[in-house]
Amino acid sequence: MYAEVIVDIAHSQVDKIFEYSCPDGLKTGSRVKVPFGGRVIEGFVIDVSPNCSIPPEKVKPVKEVFEELPALVPECFSLMERISSRYRVPKAAALRLFLPSEMRLGKVREIYKKYVKINNTDAPISKTARKQAEALEFLKGAGEYGYTELCQQFGRGAVNSLLQKGAIISEERRIIRNPFSEVDGSGEFKTLTPAQNAAIESIENTDKRVHLIHGVTGSGKTEIYLQLIANQLKLGKTAIFLVPEISLTPQMLAQLRARFRGEAAILHSGLSAGERFDEWWRLRSGEAKIAIGARSAVFAPLENLGVIIIDEEHDLSYVSETAPRYSTVEIAKIRAEYNGCKLVLGSATPSVESYLQADTGRYNLITLKDRINKKPMPEIIISDMRREVKRGNNSAFSAALREELDKTLKSGNQAIIFLNRRGYSQKIICRDCGYAAKCESCDVTLTYHSEENCLKCHYCGAKYKVPAACPECGGVHIRYSGTGTQRVVSDLNALFPAARILRMDNDTVSGKDGHYKVLHKFAQKEADILVGTQMIAKGHDFPSVTLVGILDADMSLQFADYRSGERTFQLITQVAGRSGRAEEKGKVVLQTYSPENYILRYAVAYDYDGFFKNEVSVRKTTFFPPFSLICRVMVTGGDNDRAVEALREVYEKTEKLREDNPSEFIFSGRMHSPIKKIQGKYRYQVLMRLKSRALLQKIYDIASACSTPAVLVYVEENPANLS
Ligand code: ADP
Ligand code: ZN
Repeated sequence: MYAEVIVDIAHSQVDKIFEYSCPDGLKTGSRVKVPFGGRVIEGFVIDVSPNCSIPPEKVKPVKEVFEELPALVPECFSLMERISSRYRVPKAAALRLFLPSEMRLGKVREIYKKYVKINNTDAPISKTARKQAEALEFLKGAGEYGYTELCQQFGRGAVNSLLQKGAIISEERRIIRNPFSEVDGSGEFKTLTPAQNAAIESIENTDKRVHLIHGVTGSGKTEIYLQLIANQLKLGKTAIFLVPEISLTPQMLAQLRARFRGEAAILHSGLSAGERFDEWWRLRSGEAKIAIGARSAVFAPLENLGVIIIDEEHDLSYVSETAPRYSTVEIAKIRAEYNGCKLVLGSATPSVESYLQADTGRYNLITLKDRINKKPMPEIIISDMRREVKRGNNSAFSAALREELDKTLKSGNQAIIFLNRRGYSQKIICRDCGYAAKCESCDVTLTYHSEENCLKCHYCGAKYKVPAACPECGGVHIRYSGTGTQRVVSDLNALFPAARILRMDNDTVSGKDGHYKVLHKFAQKEADILVGTQMIAKGHDFPSVTLVGILDADMSLQFADYRSGERTFQLITQVAGRSGRAEEKGKVVLQTYSPENYILRYAVAYDYDGFFKNEVSVRKTTFFPPFSLICRVMVTGGDNDRAVEALREVYEKTEKLREDNPSEFIFSGRMHSPIKKIQGKYRYQVLMRLKSRALLQKIYDIASACSTPAVLVYVEENPANLS
């Protein structure tokens, strides 16, 4: 037999299929070791057949087969084709998406543990071998026991001679590492409300492939997802459940474990290599049937999918920022089609793009207008910070927010303070000459971190000493400006000395359960106030939170990006949605320097429809997505001259394309990227706004033709981040 193999080298020059002879019974999807150019490397078997296209004497044999059960599910191959042609990546790079990276590099294997138990009670044991007799006696009571543990108690010599005599026997068994073993939810399926029942019925009985649940925060979307999954499991099918942030996975895992026990597996970039491998394998082998995770879990190795759920579908983290720059929703649609299953998108603030699909009837739209038990939405109070400044209040908190915080603390409830800036101060600036400390490898200003007393670059993580004097002019009048989360915590400590405060941002959470620990503490009411960045905005359900403070609601409005209004609306609605979810009524204080802004007005009134209609009409008349496609060709390299040269080449080619297709282009230009340098790489771009996707593949062609090892050229479609 012959195997068609894709070698695991993600390079366009070897992006083809190689043939090897193989043993009978080798299965498609297996990982193998094959000879290749004088080396032995890993490869993936994509087909097995009795024929070969090259002369038999030239065919080399497969050296080794990794697993009995092929690692790749059959669906991978059609997805691989789609991904590699859609996003212009080698097939091997597409296949890598389906495997945990540690497994590919052979760094982790399954682990085994040796157990012993009684075999023959009549085996002769000499009277002097007291330890042996004791061990035997112990095993009679214990039944089966770990070999290592038994040796620790009775000595290796005693245990080994019992084994030799056949008095006991040993057996090796695979051990499954269990991540988040402390995460264990309680809770049964709830009796669904009529609205929830209607939603499920609509999803299960409508022929459409994609469903969008637009449900206000606290409307019980999670319960709908869980019921949809349960229904599919009953039919013998499997499910994928995606959440936008890894910080949300343990919380969802708790809910899934409460209902589905070991049938839920978590794919999480924070897991140890071994844990991730074992969870992945539980899914592949069919032991687990539900995959939960962030973006990359859309590639979970499940067969026979019954439903794919994407919670908080509007979240920008669903677009990959590294090659291949795939859209999770797009991949999910392909998988849903292949499996003939449903794709369910859910959000309190659907993306304009998805809502338009629903509005025009391509998606099935389900609307949940009310919170569970008709609980009112929290009242949003606007604090005009311009007035606060006029009144002499230069602190980070308005008078209204301070008063509400005071009331909340006195009543024993909890508060969340939201601010999308890490660190203590955003910038340090010399008052004499205006110098602002910048990173040496990145074109960005540094943030002061009080805990480590250093300046940090938020793009590359570099740390710098705090200068005592200005490096430019020697002046010593250094100003710290712009409040970050650390500063907010210390200011709150000063204002409310008795309050227990937790902080959650990239600096406070590390390791796989860093997020979980902070959130768990807050949920257990071991703190009164939680201060955090957008990590705390999403999805969390804390019943005792009755106040949310949004310190700087305008910040995301300042981005020069067509999505900035949409993002601001989403952020305010999501953060506000954390307040007043249980018995007591919630409040939100929203601090802003532009209270008249219409986006804020819609958000305060919880008027998604108004926001959507307005946004759609603006984008339609100005030709912005989804009524056009923004396409950015990024050119980055460590050598500025070579990067500029590549930029010129890209631009010449796209200009040619524009001359040939003038009606497709709304705009095109070449320029520095807004951040001119990151991690020592100069950044340039050709930015285009196109009427449709018609020329997209040609632009990918241009990018791959101009990309070299020295200067990377790649395409971004409607990038989430235009910096
Ligand atoms: P969403 O995901 O829409 O923000 P959740 O699913 O978190 O909302 O539900 C909000 C709250 O309502 C949760 O505390 C949840 O346990 C509760 N809940 C949901 N469905 C029901 C139901 N059918 N009966 C009682 N409580 C429910
Ligand atoms: Zn840097």
